[in-house]
Amino acid sequence: MSAPDGGILLDIEGTTSSIRFVYDVLFPAARRELAAFLRESWERPEVQSACQLLAQDAGHDSLEAWCGHLAVGEQRCRVERQALQLMDQDAKSTGLKALQGLIWRRGFETGQFQAHVYDDVPPALRRWHAAGRDVRIYSSGSIAAQKLFFGHTVHGNLLPLLSGHYDTTVGAKREVSSYVRIAQDADWSPGEALFISDVVAELDAARDAGMQTALCQRPGNAAIPAGHGHAALTDFSQVWLGGSG
Ligand SMILES: [Mg+2]
Repeated sequence: MSAPDGGILLDIEGTTSSIRFVYDVLFPAARRELAAFLRESWERPEVQSACQLLAQDAGHDSLEAWCGHLAVGEQRCRVERQALQLMDQDAKSTGLKALQGLIWRRGFETGQFQAHVYDDVPPALRRWHAAGRDVRIYSSGSIAAQKLFFGHTVHGNLLPLLSGHYDTTVGAKREVSSYVRIAQDADWSPGEALFISDVVAELDAARDAGMQTALCQRPGNAAIPAGHGHAALTDFSQVWLGGSG
């Protein structure tokens, strides 16, 4: 498909990257690294804060109230058991999320694992960037997590090719107003912007905001019923720049 002359907005999971990455790499890594991470980083303020949240999620007033009477090694064991149990239950615990986030940050920063992006993505980003296109990310993952992700991919640091990041603080991904706000913030005329995602409801919202849209179909994505009315592509080399690009 031919991209309009303006900005390009990209979803991550199912679009630039495999939806399996988080299940195949990140979640198993958090489980595997938990004990060593707690042992090595226990005293760090951000780890103590995450453990405070974990204690509160478990119904205690504080970490101190939960396990302050125990020796440090036993405190760590208690936190570890609780975190593993929450992982088993796939619980949406704030404390667990905070702890997992810290383990992943360390994993990315030490090169223990790298974010997945499809092979066609870096060349397309370079091509768009070289043509002066403003390329931005819109994902439900936090902006901090997006930067960590694109800063440490299997294809190296891709952050210099991106001009902006949006998460759900700008609004939900299926709300028209979110795309209106993004276009305003990026100083894009909506009709000149292209949004690429694997989720039809997100594309519908972007289209209602006036953006052009493309449905990205990657291996492992959910099957999409026909009749969605969006342009479709299977990799980013299929987006070519027309006009002044
Ligand atoms: Mg997606």
